[in-house]
Amino acid sequence: MSTPASRHHKRPRGEGQWALGYREPLNKNEENKKNDDGLNVRQRIIDIYSKRGFDSIDPADLRGRMRWYGLYTQRKPGIDGGKTAVLAPEELDDRYFMLRVRIDGGQLDVRQLRAIADVSNLYGRGTADLTDRQNIQLHWVEIESVPDIWERLESVGLSTTEACGDTPRVILGCPLAGIDAEETIDATEQIREINERFIGNPEFSNLPRKFKSALSGCVAHCTVHEINDVAFVGVVNEDGEQGYDLWVGGGLSTNPMLGRRLGVFVSPERAADVFGGVIGIFRDYGYRRLRHRARLKFLVGDWGVERFREVLETEYLKEPLPDGPAPQEPRGGRRDHVGVFPQKDGNFYVGFAPKVGRLDGDRLHLIADLAERYGSDRIRTTTEQKMVILDVTPDRVDALVAELEANDLQVNPSTFRRHTMACTGIEYCKLAIVETKATAMQLIDELERRLPTFEEPLTINVNGCPNSCARIQVADIGLKGQLVVDENGEQVEGFQIHLGGSLGVSSGFGRKVRGLKTTAAALPDYVERVVTHYDTQKKDGESFAD
Ligand code: SF4
Repeated sequence: MSTPASRHHKRPRGEGQWALGYREPLNKNEENKKNDDGLNVRQRIIDIYSKRGFDSIDPADLRGRMRWYGLYTQRKPGIDGGKTAVLAPEELDDRYFMLRVRIDGGQLDVRQLRAIADVSNLYGRGTADLTDRQNIQLHWVEIESVPDIWERLESVGLSTTEACGDTPRVILGCPLAGIDAEETIDATEQIREINERFIGNPEFSNLPRKFKSALSGCVAHCTVHEINDVAFVGVVNEDGEQGYDLWVGGGLSTNPMLGRRLGVFVSPERAADVFGGVIGIFRDYGYRRLRHRARLKFLVGDWGVERFREVLETEYLKEPLPDGPAPQEPRGGRRDHVGVFPQKDGNFYVGFAPKVGRLDGDRLHLIADLAERYGSDRIRTTTEQKMVILDVTPDRVDALVAELEANDLQVNPSTFRRHTMACTGIEYCKLAIVETKATAMQLIDELERRLPTFEEPLTINVNGCPNSCARIQVADIGLKGQLVVDENGEQVEGFQIHLGGSLGVSSGFGRKVRGLKTTAAALPDYVERVVTHYDTQKKDGESFAD
């Protein structure tokens, strides 16, 4: 893909854009990436680190390139959140890793789920968390086990390649792709092609920052296209052809921006080329000076959509894209796909909710067994820390539901279990300031007890720091972990509150409520008050975000 710097555009200079000739690294991360491609760490893990142990790992690999294979050192236990910002990275590092398994499109078969379950039990102390990007994360992994883990995963077609790092990470897709009667398009083939062409490809393995993608024809818009760096959203154009509306530059973190439509129609045949063009623009024109200004959203913000489209068409695709329609308002149910619903072939899918995505190796085995017994071979992960078993014949639905629920995998969960998500938090994450998973689980239990009849789909997203891995700004109640002062003047774990975020065609970000904070201990009281107030005050048809 050629990348000439175009003469006729004014560009902000000096941000480290390769296409403008800034090839010299402007910070440590860029220097590390220039010194050696992240993908090259694989061979060193196999040949050296796994044989000689943790202490043999080059620090530039340990805290940099390992991520290109989904490996992050996890937080040393017992270090409180007040120390997160003051300790050096090596003081926070444990000798164990988090390992992220990418599950593109959320698509798994029984053998693959069993392989993850085996790895979890053999090498991850049984840990397994579903993420809101359809991945499964394991913890407590030792460097010595990594080659065997890869062998097990790769033998069933799974991978950890570019699950983290400044790379094209997992590609989100609707778990119901190909089975939902209402979907605008089945994106499975395009996700597969993009994966094959661009993941683990050294041409695209040094991006300015992480790159999040989604391709989906889900009518509930479950892949949250508004907050991805690039999103292909299923549409049908005026000629009745299925294809995609292209969105670029979405992202949350500390500087949230919603993606913007380029106004083009992308046919399924062109989707991979267009993906390559967008990622090429990011690689070549993306800002590399400051990490916190490196995501694609900053370039899109500075260029605007017209210029982005022009550069994409002229410099990367070498031909214009036709104009296309905007996606329809979300419809057809909720984004988590929890519950029992018909497929277009007459079978049913059954979506279920573990609590805040927390599972373990044994329950992954159980889910694989149930899928095999009651469904076909197909299991899906969702973008809301849930799972779905596909292809259940009508006569077997009730038995499957009963078995799932008997194992606390609820098909008819309370609204609080269904709509509460939590990031990794202080248990394992080195950036965390507060605990999240256990706090969110207790919150769910308390709210179920105190408000048993509340049924509105109210989203509560619990985050351990401002990074917003569990999407603080787009939840009805977004919680950002920080230290707060309690009534005794002690510094304790707590949260800043964002209220009324929403996603949809009229997307908006939650309002940070100035000065509104709660301690973690008082969180159930706080949420109960907000929910009760909303419930008694709301007018007909008014949602929480209104
Ligand atoms: Fe870690 Fe913060 Fe992301 Fe939570 S939001 S997983 S604490 S970086």
